[in-house]
Amino acid sequence: MEPNAKPRALVTGASRGIGAAIAVRLAQEGYQVFINYMGNEEKAAAVRDQIRASGGSAELCQFDVSQSAQVDEKFDWIAKNFGPLAVLVNNAGITIDGLLLRLKDEDLAKTLSIDLAGAIYCTRAAAKHMMKAREGSIVQISSVIGETGNAGQSGYAAAKSGLLGFSKSVAKELGSRKIRVNTITPGYIETDMTGALTENQKEAILRTVPLGFFGAPEDVASLVAFLASPASRYITGQVIGVNGGMYM
Ligand code: NDP
Repeated sequence: MEPNAKPRALVTGASRGIGAAIAVRLAQEGYQVFINYMGNEEKAAAVRDQIRASGGSAELCQFDVSQSAQVDEKFDWIAKNFGPLAVLVNNAGITIDGLLLRLKDEDLAKTLSIDLAGAIYCTRAAAKHMMKAREGSIVQISSVIGETGNAGQSGYAAAKSGLLGFSKSVAKELGSRKIRVNTITPGYIETDMTGALTENQKEAILRTVPLGFFGAPEDVASLVAFLASPASRYITGQVIGVNGGMYM
């Protein structure tokens, strides 16, 4: 690695939505950003080009977070060719909604494998290299639903609340190596994921938000930038909401 190389950050699911905003913000903060995505190469490339056009540094990094062999291979490739990651943001996620009695095995397995196991695989792969470097910041993007639960989202809630216990455990394991692990629980943020809601559903949700408006992906990205930076050096194992006050 060159002495003046930028610190490296990988954001999973950074082709759109919250992940894209996080990638753009971390690039503005001076990181070389690795943009992970699943299948949407065109959108991922647009995020990379946007970052490069404003003078930042970004690379595409396609893999499926739910496949641990792919994850290990890509994290080793980054460490070998660029150096260890300073920051990992586990943002990739899906939701397959439905009431419990109609919950299909394959939908539950898919949700858990991407939203929970995917974050665990990436954390394990990043920690291997961060431990040698004796520094790092890992940020999990969970959800307010992991704290409150939600009818029709039991599988998603199980995955997202599973992240909370996982992250606290890993924060305890890795603290002595100066690796911090924190979890953000966004409320309703305007992206493709929430775009599927009806107007009636949106109005009902807004009545539960004291600030009275939906969040933007950049609201989550601001907190990631802080948790990535040395300004948060004494913060680990925490769960922090970005939810307009809908859960306190
Ligand atoms: P989007 O649906 O807009 O984007 C999802 C991202 O995840 C895409 O980049 C997608 O890649 C990627 N992805 C999906 N599956 C995989 C996989 N197997 N491997 C790698 N990448 C994958 O989501 P949001 O931006 O809305 O949400 C981002 C995160 O924030 C999620 O974890 C979500 O649960 C959480 N969240 C969102 C809230 C919201 O209101 N929007 C609220 C609370 C939490 P591709 O484009 O290639 O398909």
